[in-house]
Amino acid sequence: MTGKSDAPLPVSAITSYHAHIYYELGEERARAEWLRTLIGERFMARIGAWHDELVGPHLKGMYQVAFAVDLFPRFVPWLMLNRVGLSVLVHPNTRRPRDDHLTYALWLGEKLPLKEETLPIEVPEAKIEELPPPNTNPTLRP
Ligand code: ZN
Repeated sequence: MTGKSDAPLPVSAITSYHAHIYYELGEERARAEWLRTLIGERFMARIGAWHDELVGPHLKGMYQVAFAVDLFPRFVPWLMLNRVGLSVLVHPNTRRPRDDHLTYALWLGEKLPLKEETLPIEVPEAKIEELPPPNTNPTLRP
């Protein structure tokens, strides 16, 4: 988004969040595994598949953690403290994937490049990502 707009965007434009946790194969992946286990034990989040091979806009291996808006104030600070040196992209999901990843996002650790051209500028309302039920049952307190 550039320049002046008529009204600020409401936070209600955000339907959910993703955290993308990046790793190289080898020792970084081992750290990513450790982090993944801890997240699964502690948070009602949906933990996506491992992507050792590049997928979508991502230029490094990663897995995605999808989480509901109300989990943000507990999960993101926890990630700040426990990301074990890995780069993490936290982005909102609105109807504008390119802005979500490139403009509205925050990074923990090193900021990595993304393949901008793979990200749609806008998606139809019907295609807004609905957050599926979490596939993990946390067993520990954060
Ligand atoms: Zn994402």
